[in-house]
Amino acid sequence: MATVVNAFALSGVSAYPVAVETVLLHGQPSISIVGLGDTAVKEAAHRLQAALTHSSYDFPKLKIVINLAPSGVKKSGSHFDLAMAIGLISSGEVLLPPEELAQTAFLGELSLNAELKPVNGVLPMAMCARDSGIRRLIVPVDNLAEARLVRELEVFGFGTLREVVDFLLGTLEYAPPDRSLEPAYSALPAVDFADVQGQEGLLEYVIAAVAGGHNFLMLGSPGCGKSMIAKRIPTIMPKLTEEEALEITKIYSVTGLLRQQNRLITERPFRSPHHNASLNALIGGGSPVVPGEISLAHNGVLFLDEIAEFERKALDALRQPLEDKVVTVSRVKSTSTFPANFMLVAAMNPCPCGYHGQPKCRCTDYEVVKYRQKLSGPILDRIDVQKYVQPVPFLSLASARKGPSSLELRERVQYARDIQTKRFVRSTEVSANAQMTEAMIKEFCQLEPDALRLLQLSFERFQYSARTHNKFLKIARTFADLEGSPQIRKKDMAAALMARDMDKEHTGMMVF
Ligand SMILES: [Zn+2]
Repeated sequence: MATVVNAFALSGVSAYPVAVETVLLHGQPSISIVGLGDTAVKEAAHRLQAALTHSSYDFPKLKIVINLAPSGVKKSGSHFDLAMAIGLISSGEVLLPPEELAQTAFLGELSLNAELKPVNGVLPMAMCARDSGIRRLIVPVDNLAEARLVRELEVFGFGTLREVVDFLLGTLEYAPPDRSLEPAYSALPAVDFADVQGQEGLLEYVIAAVAGGHNFLMLGSPGCGKSMIAKRIPTIMPKLTEEEALEITKIYSVTGLLRQQNRLITERPFRSPHHNASLNALIGGGSPVVPGEISLAHNGVLFLDEIAEFERKALDALRQPLEDKVVTVSRVKSTSTFPANFMLVAAMNPCPCGYHGQPKCRCTDYEVVKYRQKLSGPILDRIDVQKYVQPVPFLSLASARKGPSSLELRERVQYARDIQTKRFVRSTEVSANAQMTEAMIKEFCQLEPDALRLLQLSFERFQYSARTHNKFLKIARTFADLEGSPQIRKKDMAAALMARDMDKEHTGMMVF
């Protein structure tokens, strides 16, 4: 009869239960691990043999078959080691209490000398344990804090295989962990918009972009404060709900980044990949597949500084996730889907030297146009708000007057978000103005007469496309929401018409 031990497999950021079934058969001594495991799963055979021998358990001299059920789905990683070792020990010399095994799940990698090594993806696996009615979870001690984020489970952390077996046999009393292994909760963010001085005009567009879920591009010379502003954007986004915090934490868990922090991530992420980052690092990939920067920025900000320096194919790869809010990474053997609902914040210099419009710039008009065209139309099209950032005048810097705090700005954002939540209550796809469909624009963007006149005037003058026209309406809707106005007023429309400095239609009048 097979010994069954509970374990889990990962798929994207979710986990599903796996039964590790071990049988010992008469025949030539051998070990086969079946059930569509990858190389890491198959190599467990060597680790099991070494770890059992090192712990002075007999490695059965029989034909060993370990099946990971359900056998039709692919499994990846070294975290099945512990469950397999427990199954093997219990099928062989030491019968572990079956009722204990039935209520317990195991995860952890074994070293050759039978130490338990930490693994990735503990949080989703622990959540899966809870959801499938498992009472206890046994993990490597280094994964303990992460597993304990799931409060409904009894979680135990051990350092070696022998400790786990002795604990199951009742011969080892569990020593409660050090307090430092308790899950911690995050501190307040270290940056604040109060540090940003002299950018009041721009700030209104930052607030609108965050409030309406619009992506945001800043164009400006080096040192004018683009990065400083970008870093502070997560601090004015609405507070994370518990569900959103868990979504983010699961992504960091499967990427292996949670162990450095050992806590639930309760602030919105800010990710700023370098323009040399590989496509895998940006979008996700590798073997086993891990999420990329766009998923690590889920529910937060993906900041692309010097966006014009990113490779074309990297920017093209962003288009689908920007639409779908998820990314699907396909590899020869498997396909993984990861969440990727981020606000894109980008920055670029106005010209190759960076000082366009200032006396020291020697770039020709042709060079400037060429430089800006590096940013392809389809990406630019997905960035609703595109603003110049002016260098801060010396007087504003010297005044030392603090700007509004992140907390104040977040309240304004939240106010506009609450209006949108009510507006889109019937939609499962749309939660912010930026995502409105054409039908929704017709329904929700009612213009006051003088606002309509203003839009028409500028439409006639600049020959906007229908797409651009719709963008202006969405942004105007957000400006109206920030002040709680049901109708779009002339001032909202005027603000919206100034939200797209980078637009092709505008470039003629703005800079050349
Ligand atoms: Zn220049």
